Amino acid sequence: MDDVQSAPRTELHGVSPEEAFAILGDETRLNIVRTLWRAGALHEYDDIDDSASALSFSELRRRVNVGDNGRFNYHLSKLVPHFVRKTDDGYRLSGGGKRIARAVVTVAGEHGTEITGAVNSDCPVCGGAIEATYEDQWLRFSCTECAGLFGDVAPKGTLLNAPFPTPGLANRTPDDLLATELYRCMSDLTHMVQGVCPECASAVRGTLSVCETHDATPGRSCPACATPFVAWGELRCETCRFAKRLPIELCVMGLAPVIGFLYAQGTNVLAPSLDDLFDLVQSQVVTTVTETPRGVRTTIGTEGDTLTLTLDEHLSVVEISQ
Ligand SMILES: [Zn+2]
Ligand SMILES: [Zn+2]
Ligand SMILES: [Zn+2]
Repeated sequence: MDDVQSAPRTELHGVSPEEAFAILGDETRLNIVRTLWRAGALHEYDDIDDSASALSFSELRRRVNVGDNGRFNYHLSKLVPHFVRKTDDGYRLSGGGKRIARAVVTVAGEHGTEITGAVNSDCPVCGGAIEATYEDQWLRFSCTECAGLFGDVAPKGTLLNAPFPTPGLANRTPDDLLATELYRCMSDLTHMVQGVCPECASAVRGTLSVCETHDATPGRSCPACATPFVAWGELRCETCRFAKRLPIELCVMGLAPVIGFLYAQGTNVLAPSLDDLFDLVQSQVVTTVTETPRGVRTTIGTEGDTLTLTLDEHLSVVEISQ
């Protein structure tokens, strides 16, 4: 019984992830989704009024270019109602259909796009030059000289590394991209520390992990975990598996009391610079691991004006004091 309850419950609309993959695994059906998306994309505000983007059966069949009525009807019926809705005005994409279409748009573009130009910030760890690379739809900023921040869990030199949709690269300089990626990371984090997946809205599970033999000094990472951080938070969506693993010092930056406290001190952690973020994490946050119960205490700020949060092993806030 417990197993049933803790399993991801993703069949709310009668379609499991496996069935959704199977339904969409057909060229004609994807062409129907693409055609309806194009019809709807011509109309602004289609989330408010969809009637203008609906196509009749015969018009939709003509645009998808399938001659056989019965075959076309078969494929269209597979998409209704989960991806396509049939209304009095004709056929249009459902909310799920639009999400599929937008997902296709966000992954379109060149695979290994070159990012040209230099990042104007220096590495906050060693002062070396920062290089931006885009590979496998991940945008990575790395130091060209030191080991970076993430130890063995990311390529050497990594300072910031996150999935980034290809269309977002257009018309942005490397500095714009750095600011955009930081903004997106912090925005995702605010969702996840509230227990909400930014990708699929399911529950996010938080887990504290602690380096038991941590021994780091300023400027030298711990030999055991190869990072400067004693405690890390893993935030994972049980349904779509979207996940982040960040130092506790960064995890707490997504919490409203911390956002407000730091804003009053002149730092907007929702749209920070890499330097701001690093300075905060390195010199304005002190983290101690508590044993019974297992958790972590984080104090932010300096000299009398501080905010202290205690998190439990699931990263829930159990105490706040100022
Ligand atoms: Zn460096
Ligand atoms: Zn360690
Ligand atoms: Zn999710």
